[in-house]
Order: sequence, then C-alpha cells, then structure tokens
Amino acid sequence: MSVAKTYDIALVPGDGIGPDVTKAAWAVAEAAAARDGFALTATTYPWSCNYYLETGRMMPEDGIETLRGHDAILLGAVGWPATVPDSVSLHGLLLPIRKAFDQYANIRPHRLLPGVEGPLKSETFDILCIRENTEGEYSGAGGRVHQGTADEVAVETAIFTRTGVERILRFAFEAAKGRRGRVASVTKSNAQKHSMVFWDEITRLVAADYPDVEVTSYHIDAMAARMVMAPETLDVVVASNLFGDILTDLGAAIQGGLGFAASANVNPTRSAPSMFEPVHGSAPDIAGKGLANPLAAIWSAAMMLDHLGEGQASARILRAMEAATARGFGIRPGAQTTDAITDAVLTAINEE
Ligand code: NAD
Repeated sequence: MSVAKTYDIALVPGDGIGPDVTKAAWAVAEAAAARDGFALTATTYPWSCNYYLETGRMMPEDGIETLRGHDAILLGAVGWPATVPDSVSLHGLLLPIRKAFDQYANIRPHRLLPGVEGPLKSETFDILCIRENTEGEYSGAGGRVHQGTADEVAVETAIFTRTGVERILRFAFEAAKGRRGRVASVTKSNAQKHSMVFWDEITRLVAADYPDVEVTSYHIDAMAARMVMAPETLDVVVASNLFGDILTDLGAAIQGGLGFAASANVNPTRSAPSMFEPVHGSAPDIAGKGLANPLAAIWSAAMMLDHLGEGQASARILRAMEAATARGFGIRPGAQTTDAITDAVLTAINEE
C-alpha cells in the first residue's frame, strides 16, 4: 500500500513511568497509522530530570527551536522530586514549551471507558474540559521581597488579557458546536471582582456569536460540586489555568483515575506544534515495575492523530481502547502489566 502522508513526531518520554507509557502510545499510534495508510516517524529527546543532573538543564538551549520543526510532540511525564525540585523540572521543560508554542488550549476529556468503575453513581457523563494554558494564575508574574526575614512578602499576580480570555472562550464554543452544544464557563466572579468579572463579560460577548450554543456561568466551587453530583449535565467546561488544573484532576478522579486522563496542549492556529501528554506525572511509587496504565498516554496519542487530521485513526484507537477495557484490561490498578494492556489495545486494532 502506498503511504499517503508521513508525520514527524518529537517524542519526549521524560521520567519515571513516562518512557513506558510513551512506548505504549507510540506502538498503538503506529499500528493505527498502518491501518489507515499513513506513517509516523519519531525523534526521541532524552530531556528529563536525569538529563538535568547531567547537563544542568532540562532541555538544551535550542530545545524549543529543535521541537519547532516537528509536526507534534508526544510527551510521557516529567518530574523526579527526589533529585530535582518540581519547580525546576516544570519550569525547565513543560511550561516553556506550552508558552513558546502558544499552546493556549489544554483539552482534557472525562468519560468512563467500558468496564471502568468510577467512584460516582452517574456513569453516563461525557465532559470536555478546556483549560486556558498560557496566562491567568500561572503567568509567573510576581516576586518575593525581604526574603528570609519576618517581613517577607510574596506576590503572585494573575494576568488575564482580552486576547487570552476571548480566544479560549471561542475555542470552547467551537468545541461545543461539534458536541452537545453546551458550554459551562467557570469563574469566581463573586469574590474576584476584577479578573473574573472580566471573564464573565467576555463570555457574554462571545456567546452572542454562538446563538445555538447554550452557555451557563458557574462559580468554581459550585462546578466542583456539580462534577460530582450531576456530571451528566455537563458538556464543554471552560476555565482559567488554575481552575482548569484543579477541575481536571477532579475529572480524572471521576473517570476512574489518572491512568485514564488524557490531554492535549493545542495551538489552534497551528503556527507551532501542539503537545500531547497524559495528565499524570512520573509516578515514582510504581516506576520501573511495568505496572503503569498506558491508556491515558494512548488516548493522548489518539488526540494527537485527530489534531493532525487523521480522525479515522484517532477513532480507531478509541474503539480499540474501549474494546480492551470491556475485556477487563487496564480497568483495575496493577491488575495487568503495561505491556499486557498495550497488547490488548493492539489486538483490538488488528481485529477490526
Ligand atoms: P503522579 O501523577 O505521578 O502520581 C499520582 C498517583 O497516581 C501515584 O500513586 C501513581 O502511582 C498513580 N498513577 C499516576 N499515573 C498512573 C498510571 N498511568 N498508572 C497507574 N497509576 C498511576 O503524581 P505525583 O506523584 O504527584 O508526581 C510525581 C512527579 O510527576 C512529580 O515530579 C510531579 O511534578 C510530576 N508531574 C508531572 C506531570 C507532567 O509531566 N505533566 C504531571 C503531574 C505530575
């Protein structure tokens, strides 16, 4: 069969279980690509906490420029707090990539795969969380004065720009158009009367351009309760960087745990590559045991293929994951090895 297209992917396996789940996701992505008549090539970058210990940097000085040449980035997990402080590893690799490539939409799907038992009574929810990924509470604006003295002061200022807020809201409304047509916009505008009132105002302005999308504004505390009590009432949920960060861990919990939580850091303008990664970290407690659940990374790879325009291969991976979990693979922590779960997904791909 002639190959229609080849995509050039940067693999950054990272630390702990990162390399195991990246290997699994790559094998599944390649198998789906073969079935759908396109090819993937990988360049692997060893950027990680070990790399930091050897070189003093999480990635080389030209790391961003090196990544820029790829069609997409598939990342495992970064962090090894026993040897490198998390503030160093996060600010040395993940955050610079998200910011340099303007990956302003962080997309995280939350639903139960067949056979997976979540902690809630509701099993029918299907939520797409969209988190602003480049500014807000994680802008990094601030500082500390009088350090180490009794008069020490720490200031961290959230930055909300009209451009940043409007574009993430538009992204959410567009996503809702292709789903069930509902947007939940999350703020805390009763208490935060500047930035969050601003967010609510822009929500109303953007909503006027989408008369077919139903929009509701929620406060973050009420949204946290709703995700537990009535998650089936939610479709697209859009929130700031901090609120989205917290809500998507809740989302991961209600979908059965971090082993199932996938994410995409997307630059919708496509002026730079987007990055796809599981929500989980390097899991030092199970690293090296071959027990990591690869489904979150595999789902992230499916999101990557969808972003690259290979929707058919992406859907193929999701069907194969569902077939594997319906057969009992990957649904209970530690019940099968990473390889056994990956093989179950590969088998399902090849059976179709
Ligand atoms: P973690 O996500 O690594 O682990 C939390 C718990 O979930 C652990 O008990 C772990 O065993 C379990 N877990 C996580 N992924 C799993 C999987 N695929 N299969 C089975 N169990 C899984 O969070 P942590 O322990 O707080 O952080 C460890 C390191 O990872 C830290 O350095 C942290 O900064 C980093 N981290 C990185 C990312 C990222 O790269 N995007 C995200 C979160 C945390």
